[in-house]
Amino acid sequence: MDIQATNNPVGGEDAVAPGLLSDDATKHCLQMLVDAGLRPTRQRLALGKLLFLRGHRHVTAESLYDEAVAANAYLSLATVYNTLNQFTEAGLLRRIAADGIKSFFDTDTSVHPHFYLEGEDVLVDVAAGLAFSKVPDALPGHEIARLDVIIHLRRKRMQ
Ligand SMILES: [Zn+2]
Repeated sequence: MDIQATNNPVGGEDAVAPGLLSDDATKHCLQMLVDAGLRPTRQRLALGKLLFLRGHRHVTAESLYDEAVAANAYLSLATVYNTLNQFTEAGLLRRIAADGIKSFFDTDTSVHPHFYLEGEDVLVDVAAGLAFSKVPDALPGHEIARLDVIIHLRRKRMQ
């Protein structure tokens, strides 16, 4: 794509400065955004690099915001929320609602089960996988759109 085309801010987003495109990791991230149909703004690139260059990750808006601050990316928490939602809609992330209030965002968009550590606010993959002997048929006129399995864990009480 033509990088110059991004020098036309929409919705207050910053265009990408050409100097930010110098390393391979950034180029990889930029291509990922373009392939997903997203315009590679400075904010999306900064968060994309935190999300997609470190393997399979589970983040919350708050944890990613803290990382962005530590990486000197000057973004508001609202921008982080919006960007995570845009990435999710574009198919780059999978949203997982673990406790009703807080959403986790998974860089592995395949169907896989999770452990949620209550009280520690941590989501991890169930490494051993999970087998179903019977997945119920969908209701008439419906199909199963997705299947989420979250196994909630808590610390055992000391005896
Ligand atoms: Zn996962």
